[in-house]
Amino acid sequence: MSNAIVWFRRDLRLADNPALQAALDAGHVPVPVYIHAPEEEAPWAPGAASRAWLHRSLQALDADLRARGSRLVVRRGDSLAELEKLISETRAEALHWNRLYEPASIARDTRIKQGLKSRGLEVQSHNAALLVEPWTVQTGQGGPYRVFTPFWKNARQVLESVRAAPPPERLPDPPATLAGLDLKDLALSPPAHEPAWDAGFWKHWTPGESGALELLDVFLDGALHGYRRQRDMPGRVGTSRLSPHLHFGEISPRTLVAALQAGDWPAAIRPDLDHYLSELGWREFSHHLIFHFPDTPTDNLNPKFGDFPWADPDPALLQAWQQGRTGVPMVDAGMRELWATGWMHNRVRMVVASFLTKNLRMHWRHGADWFWDTLVDADLANNTQGWQWTAGTGADAAPYFRIFSPVSQTQRFDAEGAYLRRWLPELAKLPDAALAAPWEQPGLMREKAPDYPRQPVVDLRASREAALAAYASVRADGPARR
Ligand SMILES: Cc1cc2nc3c(=O)[nH]c(=O)nc-3n(C[C@H](O)[C@H](O)[C@H](O)COP(=O)(O)OP(=O)(O)OC[C@H]3O[C@@H](n4cnc5c(N)ncnc54)[C@H](O)[C@@H]3O)c2cc1C
Repeated sequence: MSNAIVWFRRDLRLADNPALQAALDAGHVPVPVYIHAPEEEAPWAPGAASRAWLHRSLQALDADLRARGSRLVVRRGDSLAELEKLISETRAEALHWNRLYEPASIARDTRIKQGLKSRGLEVQSHNAALLVEPWTVQTGQGGPYRVFTPFWKNARQVLESVRAAPPPERLPDPPATLAGLDLKDLALSPPAHEPAWDAGFWKHWTPGESGALELLDVFLDGALHGYRRQRDMPGRVGTSRLSPHLHFGEISPRTLVAALQAGDWPAAIRPDLDHYLSELGWREFSHHLIFHFPDTPTDNLNPKFGDFPWADPDPALLQAWQQGRTGVPMVDAGMRELWATGWMHNRVRMVVASFLTKNLRMHWRHGADWFWDTLVDADLANNTQGWQWTAGTGADAAPYFRIFSPVSQTQRFDAEGAYLRRWLPELAKLPDAALAAPWEQPGLMREKAPDYPRQPVVDLRASREAALAAYASVRADGPARR
């Protein structure tokens, strides 16, 4: 049998993997390959938390391949050069991969496809990551969408026809002589002589396809029921927590949709199902945006914000935000959850991002950079969209200037303080009513929470007024061009 290289990137699974399936369907022996080339994704090479996840995810993929008779060949270096070597070592007749949508990956993949096709190799790319690829939906005027609701109304039409392929039961063995690196050689995890800052992560996560499928089962039996209401409550397990698995392609969105559609659900959970699908829709929308507006990881989508008066970044304030020492409990709890687990609840992401970009008025890029390094689900499309949306510079940003109040968000979504007490043990003894704004009760703070900052690093009301004034200067210029 002839060989075909299957180039794994962020599709680290065997089920519903069109590149792998295409090689099998054509009667080839798939040669599963991972090439480590982070510099090709610059300036968005994976951050530290992503690298730690990737190490475990690749281990899991290799184990899953071995359980079926194959194995993962790991290389490091320029992707085109390594692929050329692999093609010549295996005499491969074809190369398959699943598409990525970030600007640097698109440029690299286009170059590789052209180069290898011109030398007569069969090169095919496939869609593994999205329900709708960015060029397949467009507005009535023929351009990309910039508003979520009409995007999703159009895009969700594909849901009816979504199917997910099962994993192959057996795989033929790639050539025995083919050499690869040990995963440890990629130095993705913190080295043994450095503090294992990620040690706490793995109580919360099991990277790899099996971990993703287990989490999906847990979600379908649990948090899906009541998702619409509970997804905003950070003290509960109210969401699927599948974001890192989706980012690394350990599970496909098609598998999620198929699982939701296959269930024999009571009518009462229809709104929960629809809401979950629409969150997957936001993921699709983020990819639509980054594909059509590839400068947005650094530039405001809305050009009106070009002259926005961001504050000069104050390193001490930025560090207080990063380390969860701002004296604003909901912000500090979120930043500590992020540090301890590599993940943060969505509602809290919005609160901490609003605090940084509005109360501290720092450019959203400072926050996006920190998230990039610390999130296990750091995803250029979703992170860019999340920061630009919250900062008000992005697509579908609220038409008025929205500033999340960390105090009222706590009162609405964590009234009993389950989330705050979990991540801020120094506040645990405060009564529920004092948790959202403890600085208003200095006597109680002295007695029951002596180790927490007495005052927020910034006055919430004054900084909100200053931010509103800054945004009014932008609004005065008239409606956005896009
Ligand atoms: C400032 C900011 C930064 C963010 N950065 C990222 C990021 O780097 N990577 C990332 O995956 N998500 C990011 N998000 C979106 C969102 O917070 C996470 O996807 C979500 O918290 C993941 O938890 P979950 O898997 O339990 O979500 P669920 O509620 O179970 O949702 C299911 C899936 O839908 C997708 N999704 C949900 N909400 C959003 C959203 N608002 N935008 C895009 N996709 C969404 C995710 O893939 C998620 O796994 C960010 C949001 C904000 C406000």
